[in-house]
Amino acid sequence: MLNFNDTEKAFAYKTDKQLKKARFLFRIMQYNGLVKIAAVLTPLALKIHLPIKGIIKKTLFEQFVGGTSLQQSSNVIDKLEKQNVDVILDYGVEGGEYDEAKYDASLAEFIKVIRFAGTKKNAPFISVKLTGLGSTTLLAKLNLNAYDHFKFASDERIKEKIAALGTSEKAAWEKLVERTEQICSVARELGVGIMIDAEETWIQDPIDFVALNMSRKFNQNKAVVYNTLQFYRHDRMQFMHAAYQDSLDHGYQYAVKIVRGAYMEKERARAEKLKYKSPIHVDKEAVDKDYDEAIVFLIEHQENCSFIVASHNEKSTLHAVQISNQHKAPGKVYFSQLFGMSDHLTFNLASAGFKVSKYLPFGPIEEVVPYLMRRAQENSSVAGQTSRELSLIREECKRREI
Ligand SMILES: Cc1cc2nc3c(=O)[nH]c(=O)nc-3n(C[C@H](O)[C@H](O)[C@H](O)COP(=O)(O)OP(=O)(O)OC[C@H]3O[C@@H](n4cnc5c(N)ncnc54)[C@H](O)[C@@H]3O)c2cc1C
Repeated sequence: MLNFNDTEKAFAYKTDKQLKKARFLFRIMQYNGLVKIAAVLTPLALKIHLPIKGIIKKTLFEQFVGGTSLQQSSNVIDKLEKQNVDVILDYGVEGGEYDEAKYDASLAEFIKVIRFAGTKKNAPFISVKLTGLGSTTLLAKLNLNAYDHFKFASDERIKEKIAALGTSEKAAWEKLVERTEQICSVARELGVGIMIDAEETWIQDPIDFVALNMSRKFNQNKAVVYNTLQFYRHDRMQFMHAAYQDSLDHGYQYAVKIVRGAYMEKERARAEKLKYKSPIHVDKEAVDKDYDEAIVFLIEHQENCSFIVASHNEKSTLHAVQISNQHKAPGKVYFSQLFGMSDHLTFNLASAGFKVSKYLPFGPIEEVVPYLMRRAQENSSVAGQTSRELSLIREECKRREI
């Protein structure tokens, strides 16, 4: 029986000390102003080598990250396995402009992660950000215009943009594609799934383009490559239908992770500054409606789809449970929450027999800081989520009398 209010199950993997720390952290994150300042100052402080790594490690890092390395994350992975929870391993490299050697080093690291995942019973997926494998500036250059994003099948515009690149940029693009292909190829060989994360709209078109080509190539027999759709975008429902149609046309499994999206404030601010129509839905209701409709669509088309409902929203999670029960497909839906968030969903879903995982980032502190800042902002700006999280933690503290 599914019961999201069972805090004993939800926090069974946390010691009293860890739980009290989580309570402290979620309390602090409620102060929106403080989080905003921290999000700006923390990367700067790290850049000028102020000694703040210790404090980050003991707070946000411990709550939201598995460890600084794969080995260090093993403990967490094994603990989750005991509770029938999978992990999506996320080597936290993203963004920034680096030289090709750094991207090659990231590629080697991703391959290490896939090999490691292959040795674990509960690590069926790893996630990849293409901004960790190639230049963000180059991705931005290949993006289509703000009004008219990649339309999927038969969209030739990105190919035209690639053809117009100069020699060294073209070589850099080919390297990026090659690195992604190598990752997908090793993943297929070892039976590990690759989730390509969705990023900001001003670089997302070429990411979708790569995801499409990898899906066509690697998903012929089973789902290996999952693209990510952010339903806070008003164009993603149409995009999903076109993507699904493409999988039928080319005879491969449509594989997708659906999220609401992590960059809302940044997206809106940029659209306002550069005076283009925001790619984000006007309100939360519209996002929720699209998200829940996407769940229905994917369950209804389950024969040709593999999908991950990646959300902390209780209503959407219950909705997915109900629709999948109606379609007699409870085993087909795969749920996922971020490590350190919504344990009441993860562990109660697992205990009721659903397939569920934690998205588990790991990496050196300075590399995971952008991820940590997003988590802090998400937990401060989405007031409902934080207070729900905090009230459950408080309830469990009360139950344990700590
Ligand atoms: C496993 C996993 C993988 C993820 N991968 C990615 C990824 O690849 N790319 C990515 O961008 N994010 C990713 N995320 C993060 C995800 O986008 C956020 O966790 C998510 O937006 C929070 O939404 P929620 O579904 O948990 O529900 P809720 O808490 O109900 O929704 C909050 C979200 O709704 C949207 N929203 C809130 N207010 C408004 C408003 N006024 N108008 C419009 N929209 C609004 C925002 O997206 C906000 O984050 C991932 C999350 C998980 C769990």
